[in-house]
Amino acid sequence: MTEVRVRIAPSPTGPLHLGTARTALFNFLFARHAGGTFILRLEDTDQARSTEAFERDIIDGLHWLGMTWDEGPAVGDEPECGTYGPYRQMQRLPRYREAVDRLLAEDKAYYCYCSPHELDAERKRQEAARESPRYNGRCAHLTAGQRVAFEAEGREPVVRFRIPPDRRIVFDDMVRGRVEIDTSVLGGDLVIVRSDGTPLYHFTVAVDDAAMAITHVIRGEDHLSNTPKHILLFEALGSTVPQFGHLPLILNADRTKMSKRKSVTAVADYRAEGFIPEAFVNYLALLGWSTGTEEEVLSLSELTDRFDLASVNKAGSIFDRERLEWLNGQWIRRLSADDLIDRLRPFLEADLAAGRIDWLPTDGELRALLPVVQERLPTLAVVGDLIGFLLVKDLEPEPALMIPKRWDAARTAIALRAARHTIAEVGRVSWEADEIEPPLRRLVEEGGWKVGDLFMAIRVAITGRTVSPPLFDTMVALGYERTLARLDRAIETLEAQPPGTL
Ligand code: GLU
Repeated sequence: MTEVRVRIAPSPTGPLHLGTARTALFNFLFARHAGGTFILRLEDTDQARSTEAFERDIIDGLHWLGMTWDEGPAVGDEPECGTYGPYRQMQRLPRYREAVDRLLAEDKAYYCYCSPHELDAERKRQEAARESPRYNGRCAHLTAGQRVAFEAEGREPVVRFRIPPDRRIVFDDMVRGRVEIDTSVLGGDLVIVRSDGTPLYHFTVAVDDAAMAITHVIRGEDHLSNTPKHILLFEALGSTVPQFGHLPLILNADRTKMSKRKSVTAVADYRAEGFIPEAFVNYLALLGWSTGTEEEVLSLSELTDRFDLASVNKAGSIFDRERLEWLNGQWIRRLSADDLIDRLRPFLEADLAAGRIDWLPTDGELRALLPVVQERLPTLAVVGDLIGFLLVKDLEPEPALMIPKRWDAARTAIALRAARHTIAEVGRVSWEADEIEPPLRRLVEEGGWKVGDLFMAIRVAITGRTVSPPLFDTMVALGYERTLARLDRAIETLEAQPPGTL
């Protein structure tokens, strides 16, 4: 059996898109599962839109997700590796030239002198006649004399590849099964080199996949309609046609295509929100694929063991942010304390820089908080919401948040005063969650209140928020003195409200 060789071929014309990351991952898993080779090729021929910053973002994103390639271009400090290079298309221009010359010499391609204006007029005529748009083949059989005449007019030709008008291209897609497409729908002979001499995507991709001995082309379904063109090019170049696998599109919840205008699509944005790579890569794998069992939380190496392209869905995969957050939470729970502390630091530093907290906790303080925090983090960035109340000097709790329904400010102040008294009494003896809770529950009973009402008032008084880690753990973390001081402050605020404030 030939060795499996697959590639991810991003264009550095935008940041790493989650669709590209998913395609990279499926190629990576396929290669690793089969003991094959995973190749990175940068498709940078769109010079106007390609940038080094986008290239960096793509490389960083793939590294962050734990994908390493066996062959690829020099990037950053890493040298080029592999014997099929160069792995950047702009460094392969002579190879495309050589391939074009060969196709021209074999009359599989020809120079076309039609001007954009003429092509446009023809397209309009086709539209008016309700014909499907296609090149009409005007230059397909020029004589030498006609060519000379066009050149004398100063026309700069493109190169077109001959597409047979009436063939049915059939291939067995590894995901979609048998695919049949008539060449009549391909739009006629295909431009493979622009008039300025730069080669176009369909051509470079086929030349490179052939030259790099790619055995399986695994990519998004948006490329399905390109595949017949590529198959014809492989044949014309005398190369073995690789196998194809087209992955389902990633969709929004309303089944529309995920686009950067409507949704968060850049991998770096998820990273900035505090998704961790173990979870993100796990989630990407489940976008269109499943183990067929209940197993969901899988590491890269477990994914590699189980991955099988044949069990990828044909139908579009809906991007489900809740599931991603759930998986992220699962992965965060598995981190060791030291690891989690390291990963939380940058998020707390950002909170400090933004003025959301007044100081940073020490490692020891953070470690003491992990038991109440670790299980409650859907993303790392939420850490500030959970423990920020500990890291601020003064808190100005909103009266409206503190006052339970059907209560007013005065009644809330009275209840909090009673609670403060109870808390102060207990705390003089012992400051532990288990000790604080029972007397407060008794107080609620005596007052004829609802547990939720009083506890919410206390929670808002000491954290400023309606959501926090469990109340008594929160008090313990805050400490005896600060808890009482915040209760005093809250009571004062409530007492300063005009009578009848709800
Ligand atoms: N550069 C192309 C893209 O980013 C590669 C497509 C392919 O895998 O053939 O869409």
